[in-house]
Amino acid sequence: MLVELDAPLAPLTTLRLGGPARRLVTAGTDEEVVETVRAADLAGEPLLVIGGGSNLVIGDRGFDGTVLRIATTGFILDGTELELAAGEVWADAVTRSVDAGLAGIEFLAGIPGSAGATPVQNVGAYGQEVAGSITEVVAYDRRADEVVTLTNAECEFSYRHSRFKADPERYVVLRVRFRLADADGRSTPVRYAEVARTLGVEAGERVALRTAYKTVLGLRAGKGMVLDPADHDTWSAGSFFTNPVLTADQYADFLTRLGERTAPAYPAPGGCTKTSAAWLIDQAGFGKGYGAGAATLSTKHTLALTNRGTASTADLLGLAREIRDGVRTTFGVDLVNEPVMIGVTL
Ligand SMILES: Cc1cc2nc3c(=O)[nH]c(=O)nc-3n(C[C@H](O)[C@H](O)[C@H](O)COP(=O)(O)OP(=O)(O)OC[C@H]3O[C@@H](n4cnc5c(N)ncnc54)[C@H](O)[C@@H]3O)c2cc1C
Repeated sequence: MLVELDAPLAPLTTLRLGGPARRLVTAGTDEEVVETVRAADLAGEPLLVIGGGSNLVIGDRGFDGTVLRIATTGFILDGTELELAAGEVWADAVTRSVDAGLAGIEFLAGIPGSAGATPVQNVGAYGQEVAGSITEVVAYDRRADEVVTLTNAECEFSYRHSRFKADPERYVVLRVRFRLADADGRSTPVRYAEVARTLGVEAGERVALRTAYKTVLGLRAGKGMVLDPADHDTWSAGSFFTNPVLTADQYADFLTRLGERTAPAYPAPGGCTKTSAAWLIDQAGFGKGYGAGAATLSTKHTLALTNRGTASTADLLGLAREIRDGVRTTFGVDLVNEPVMIGVTL
C-alpha cells in the first residue's frame, strides 16, 4: 500500500485536470482497499475512490481528504464465468475475453478505466451494456461495514445508472463477475445501426468476434474515443453529457421547437423518448472543435469536452455551462453531465 501526501490528481485523470489530494492511497489488494475505507470512515475523513480517472471532473482545488486509488489485479476465467478484480484495466479484460473466444462484452472494447467502475454507471456502447453480462458484484458496504455480494437485479442497473451511482457513499466495488457466452467464435447479435452499417450486416446478425471488436475500435478511434496521449481530442472524460430521456410532455414541447428539423428519437422505458445529446449540441450551434480557449469540443465528436493541454477545470466547466445553456435555450432540454463532479458543480 502506497501513501502519498499532497499528491497531484490531474495525471490520474484522462482529462488531466484537478488539484491535489491531501492524501493519496494506492491499494493493491481487496484487504488494503477495505482497510483504507474503514479507517477513513472511522476517522470521519472525506473519501474519494478512483480507478482509471476516465469519468471524473476534479475541481482545481483538489480533494481535501483521502483519495483511494484501486490498483488490484485479477482476471479469473472459468469456462464462460469471468471474475475481474476492480483494479483490472477494462479494455485489456475485453481484449482477453475476445482472445478466449467469448462473447458478451466485445462491443465495449476500448472503453478506458477500471473493471470496478463499470457497474457504477452501467458502462455501455454500441448496443451493449455491462448490465447484460454481470452476474454479481462483490463490494464493501460502508454502512454495514462488511463485504457483500449483490446480484445483477440488486445492482438496479438502468441507462448509465445503478445502485452504486445512486448511493455513491455506500459501496466500494471489489470484484465484478460476468457470464460470457461461447457462440462458436461469433459475437452477440449486432444491435447498433452504425455498427451494422459499417459491417454491412442486418441488425440482429452475429459476426466473428474479432471483426466486431476491431470494428468498434475503429469507430471509436474515428471519434477520438480511444485514449492516445499524443491526441488532445482524447484528453476528455468521454461523453460529457448523457442522452436526454424525455417524458411524453417534454417530448411534445421538444417537437414544437424543432420546426422543420428531425431529431434522433428512440423509445425509452415508461413511455419516454431518448434523443441524442451530440445532435442537440451540434444543432444548437456548437460544432466539432467549438471553443477558442484551452478547453474546446473535440474536433472529432461534439459530445467530448477536451483539455487542449493547458486548461483548468474552471475552463472546462465554463465551456460545459455555455453548451448546456445554449441547448436549453434552443431546444428546452436540460443536458445532464455524465462524469462525476468532485468539488465542483455544473
Ligand atoms: C475517451 C473516453 C471514452 C469513453 N467511452 C465510454 C463509453 O463508450 N461508454 C461508457 O459508459 N463510458 C465511457 N467513458 C467513461 C469511462 O471510461 C467509464 O465511465 C469508466 O467505467 C470509468 O472508469 P474509471 O475506472 O476511470 O472510473 P473513475 O473515473 O476513476 O471513477 C468514476 C466514478 O466511479 C467511482 N468508482 C471508481 N471505481 C470504483 C470502485 N471500485 N467502487 C466504487 N466506485 C468506484 C468513482 O468514485 C467515481 O464516482 C469514456 C471515457 C473516456 C475518457
